[in-house]
Formats: sequence, C-alpha cells, structure tokens
Amino acid sequence: MTGREGAAALVAVGDELIAGERAEGNLGWLARELTSRGWRVSEARLIGDDLAQLTETLRDLLSGHELVITTGGLGPTLDDVTRHAAAAACDLELEEDAETVAGLREFWSTRGEPMPESNRRQALLPSGALRLDNAHGTAPGFLVEAGGARLACLPGPPREMQGVSREELLSRVERSAPPQRRTLFLCGVSESDLADRVGEWMARDADPVSGVLASRGVLELKFTARGSSEADLARLEERVEEARELLAPWVFSESEADLASVLVAELLEEGCSVAVAESCTGGQISQRLCAVPGVSAVLKESLVTYSNEAKAARLGVPEDLIEAHGAVSDEVAEAMATGLHGSSGARLVGAVTGIAGPGGGSPEKPVGTVHFAVGLDGAVRTHQRTFSSRGRGHIQAWATNTMLNLMLRTYRDGR
Ligand code: ATP
Ligand code: MG
Repeated sequence: MTGREGAAALVAVGDELIAGERAEGNLGWLARELTSRGWRVSEARLIGDDLAQLTETLRDLLSGHELVITTGGLGPTLDDVTRHAAAAACDLELEEDAETVAGLREFWSTRGEPMPESNRRQALLPSGALRLDNAHGTAPGFLVEAGGARLACLPGPPREMQGVSREELLSRVERSAPPQRRTLFLCGVSESDLADRVGEWMARDADPVSGVLASRGVLELKFTARGSSEADLARLEERVEEARELLAPWVFSESEADLASVLVAELLEEGCSVAVAESCTGGQISQRLCAVPGVSAVLKESLVTYSNEAKAARLGVPEDLIEAHGAVSDEVAEAMATGLHGSSGARLVGAVTGIAGPGGGSPEKPVGTVHFAVGLDGAVRTHQRTFSSRGRGHIQAWATNTMLNLMLRTYRDGR
C-alpha cells in the first residue's frame, strides 16, 4: 500500500522541540490514534517556528498525503506561525473569526482583565476553515480542505492537543474500518526466546503480519491481518489460536498491557486478599497495585522491609537465617512471605529481595540477582532471576513486573 490514498503525515512545530529543550510528546499519540482509525501514517516531522520553512513543508506534505496534522505554534506571539503557514500552503487568506474573538474576550473578562490585542492573532483562521474548539486552553485549532487533502492544525501542549483531537477532530477524520488486529501480552519469556520459538511469524512477508514490542519484561505480540477478506481474518484467528496454545505459560492478557491491572481484576473477582513485602523494589510493586482503581477491596498491606532488622522485626525473619544465607536468598524471601502471610492474613502474598546495584554484587550473587517468594493460602514457593545489570531502575522495574507476573500465575494456578 503506497501512494496518497489513506496516507497521513504529522508535523510538530516548535524551535524548542528541535533544540531538544523539550521532549516531543504529540506525534506518537496522534500516530496511534490515526492508525487505529485506518490511516497509514507515513511520515512525521519536527519543524521550527519558521514561516517559510513550515509553509514549504506543508505544501510538500499536502501534495503526497490525504491528511496532514500539525501541533503547536498557534499561540498569540509573533513566533507562532502555524496559522499563517497553513493559509499560505493552502493558498487561502486569513480571516478573523468573530466567535473566537468573543470567546477570547470572555476568557479575559472572567480574569478581570482586558484582552491583550496580540491575542486577536489567535482568532485568525484560513478562510473556509472549520474551527476546532479548545475547551482546555485559549488557542482553537482548525481543519481546512486544500486540493483534495485536509490539513488540521492543533495546539501544542499535549493535554490541549489530545482534548481537541478527541472532542473535535478524530470523529471527523475517521476512515474505513481499521485493519483487524490482535495482541497478546506476555511476561516471563525473553524476546530472543520468543524469536527461537515463533521467529518465522515475524518474517516481512508473513500473513498475518506479526511484530513484538518489549518493555521491562513485558512483551506485546501483535498480529495484523493483511486485508479484510474472510480468508485474511480466518488466517489471523488461526495464528492467534496457535499463539495462545504455544505461548500459554507466558500470556497474561489479550487486552491489557499492565500486569498490575490484570492481577487486581482477577483478585477482585473472588475478593482474594493480597499483601506484599518489598526490599530491593522499594515500594514499586505496591505503587503499581495502588495505581489500579478498586484495589482497596483486596490489598491488605504492603511493607518496605529494607534493612535486615526490619525483615526480622516486621516479618519475623530469623536473624540467623539472614546470617546463614544472606538477605538476598531463597530462604530469606521464603521467610518474608511466610511471615507476611502470618501477620497480614492475606491469602496471596509476595516477597522480594535482591541486589539492585550498582554496589553490593559478588561473583556468586551479581548485581541483578533477585529472589522472589509467592504464597497462596500459606503454600510458599520461591523463584530466582538474574536480570542484566543495566542500572538500578532497570533491575527494579524488571523485578516489579516479574513479581506481579509470579503472583498472577500463582493465583491462576491455585484458584
Ligand atoms: P509558547 O507561547 O509557550 O511558546 P506557543 O504559543 O508557541 O507557546 P505552542 O507552540 O502550542 O504554543 O506550545 C505551547 C506549549 O506546548 C509549549 O510549552 C511547547 O513547548 C509545548 N509543546 C508544543 N508542541 C509540543 C510537542 N509536540 N510536544 C510536547 N510539548 C509541546
Ligand atoms: Mg511554540
């Protein structure tokens, strides 16, 4: 599929984006929204606040795409050139939009101040453009037709850009049904291990098309049908069924990327209580659980037992056990989980202890060594993993996802 039909291009406008003073935060979001509405986003550019360059860019993109969307540069100051560039690229005049001026006046009067004259600039729209109201800020966006293509200009602040897109733009640029897609979310298997098992699915000419995205121990395995015929969809379903079977030990969801959300949802079904005791993750597991609405119905408590004394005092881990095996050991993780089960009364408990580094490693227990213990109704099992040492945050994030996944597996196997 090439050519103009169904093709969209994105432009983020702002000197600060090019200079690297601010991380670009709009294009990825827009690309996902458009893709899910059947568009093929074939290009995304960053352009400075430069009228001539932006005009040239828009002309160029409008000739090769059916839809072009810009973000940023709609402010009231002279360095905000997007509306002028849009009008020039479409060979249209700018006209003051009376309703926008009235809205701006009202905005300023509620603040008890007269509207600065410079703000009138924000009310200029290319003639014939449809105003896209901005309920989240002062600069409205607009949508305009030019030479068989459409150009939408949106405000730059990501919150405003998303608001205007959802409320005013996306429903107006819906294309035919998006390609059928299925996603499996996995944890506990590495990307290379997955490649060994089902690598041929990822071939460029495979049908359906498959791809994998990895983030901190979680893999997102995507399947996209080549077309929309019944045969295309049947091949998609067949592949998904095959994947479900082959990858069953690691698939944790087909719709939700967040392990904590999946775990909490399942615990809520039967009201299974849960508690965690964390050492090397410092509360991150608890934080992930607490981010899920409704968790209060099942989460009893979470402890950060960082020191040996805390592991002894809060969880009853015998000091001589720590001395004999070290705080980072299966034995101590198991004693933490057992102690937590006793003190909290939670049905499902998880305990983690490890070496997040950069110091504290040894040849037998290198940085990245993490011991997990998970118990359901008092039956505790331990697991050990060694994560590659790509920094403290990396090890903690992997340990957190691993713990959530082990708790989910334990609960699924034992319920
Ligand atoms: P300002 O007057 O603050 O420069 P502006 O009038 O130029 O703003 P915008 O260009 O829409 O208006 O930018 C408003 C704010 O949004 C700025 O802080 C800008 O850095 C930020 N912003 C703009 N585009 C993006 C983007 N693509 N990603 C992240 N932030 C952005
Ligand atoms: Mg700007």
